[in-house]
Amino acid sequence: MRIKIGLGYDIHRLVKGRKLILGGVEIPFFKGLAGHSDADVVLHAIADAILGALGEGDIGEHFPNTDSRYKNISSLVLLKNVDGLRRKKGFKISNVDCVVQAEEPKIKNYKKAMEKKIAQCLKIKISEVNIKATTQEQLDAIGQKKGIAAFATVLLIKN
Ligand code: ZN
Repeated sequence: MRIKIGLGYDIHRLVKGRKLILGGVEIPFFKGLAGHSDADVVLHAIADAILGALGEGDIGEHFPNTDSRYKNISSLVLLKNVDGLRRKKGFKISNVDCVVQAEEPKIKNYKKAMEKKIAQCLKIKISEVNIKATTQEQLDAIGQKKGIAAFATVLLIKN
């Protein structure tokens, strides 16, 4: 099969005393996401989408949160690592699409910076990365500002 699609989803809790990193970009906010790594839900969702398209499981299998090597690691490193697997398997990226679900902070002004960071990390064009943001209309845990989630899809084309 020449084309492969992958879906990724991730959610982390918002807590005090952590930096908020989304799509590899630090966003000024009084809380950040809790996690073993920097807890970047956007990059985790994208990495999982790439792994899904490759039929290679999920990031939890590749980077166990019990492994001290990944403690507080930048998720750009994890994504780069996953992307290396994609290259090794002979696929190029058609495009990456992502939805970030956050009640606050407003991330509208950071979407372009995130697209740029992700494109650089994956060595693709900025036009091949799209970040969308939505609130949860105050519904459920995300709507109550307890966490931030992200969905991503990736389309891969066999070289
Ligand atoms: Zn995660």
